[in-house]
Amino acid sequence: MKPITYLEPETVDEACEQLDRHGHDAVVLAGGQSLLQILKRRLVQADYVVDITAIDDLHELGKSDESFRIGAAVPYVDIVQHPVARSQIPGLAEAIETIGDHQIRCRGTFVGGIAHADPQGDPPIIATALDAEFHIASVDGTRTVSASEFYAGLFETDLNQGELITHVEVPLSEDNEISTYQSFTRRMGDYAIAAVALSTSLSNDETMTDPRVVVGAATHGPTRLSSVEDSLDDSVLTDDIIDEAAETARENVDATDDEVATAAYKSHLVGELTRDALESVR
Ligand SMILES: Cc1cc2nc3c(=O)[nH]c(=O)nc-3n(C[C@H](O)[C@H](O)[C@H](O)COP(=O)(O)OP(=O)(O)OC[C@H]3O[C@@H](n4cnc5c(N)ncnc54)[C@H](O)[C@@H]3O)c2cc1C
Repeated sequence: MKPITYLEPETVDEACEQLDRHGHDAVVLAGGQSLLQILKRRLVQADYVVDITAIDDLHELGKSDESFRIGAAVPYVDIVQHPVARSQIPGLAEAIETIGDHQIRCRGTFVGGIAHADPQGDPPIIATALDAEFHIASVDGTRTVSASEFYAGLFETDLNQGELITHVEVPLSEDNEISTYQSFTRRMGDYAIAAVALSTSLSNDETMTDPRVVVGAATHGPTRLSSVEDSLDDSVLTDDIIDEAAETARENVDATDDEVATAAYKSHLVGELTRDALESVR
């Protein structure tokens, strides 16, 4: 492995200047749980790593107006221990608890998982279901992108050269809003073969409004299942509605074939995970 220059900026502006100055030769380092592997395998070549974990502003975690803010240097483990995440965004905590093992969750960051855009990664799927917004900085200023607009295919995102995601904002649930995350792995700690994230309003009589149903791991990236959302919107969560939604999910998901599982098997899993998600919120 050739020598790499390690840079440790203390402000977002300094990090953006370093990313701009070194262009394609620089990469952002957060928890390093994915980056070090891809550098070692030479899937990415870099002369400079810009470690963002010494930037105080990127450690912010907590309520900010009507949303929950997750800074780019916050490890997974801090998010699941946060009382607001646990009580008001249960799907977020459920998704994070499926990631790797405790060591990975102590070092890895949620925002790193967002930026890495692994189609089997859990953060992009739950972020899309929760309608999260990604805040991005560069030497040209700042901008905001919704999770739905950010992902563009296999490891493809809207992030440009020299840009840094500073934080993610997850809208905070109203009293009657609920979220859940269901995934299937062969062994505990493995990457998911299929996952379904759901967020919705649910009234006392179990009528769903504005559901967001997002499938991932089985597809080339987080994908909303609009046919399932349409079948659930303004519907009372009865056994028949749940059966119909599970079948619609199975039939409509555009699952991928790979060495781990066939598209048919993944489609079956997506149907069953959709059923699990709906049963878990009623
Ligand atoms: C054994 C093992 C098991 C795992 N299992 C799972 C799993 O089950 N589910 C899952 O989702 N993940 C899993 N992961 C991956 C883990 O979630 C990583 O932590 C995550 O993908 C990246 O977070 P990180 O902070 O380590 O980022 P890094 O590894 O530091 O960076 C990852 C990539 O994102 C870029 N990046 C990071 N932060 C930013 C930023 N703020 N702005 C712009 N670009 C940025 C980096 O340049 C790099 O390209 C696993 C990893 C390992 C090693």
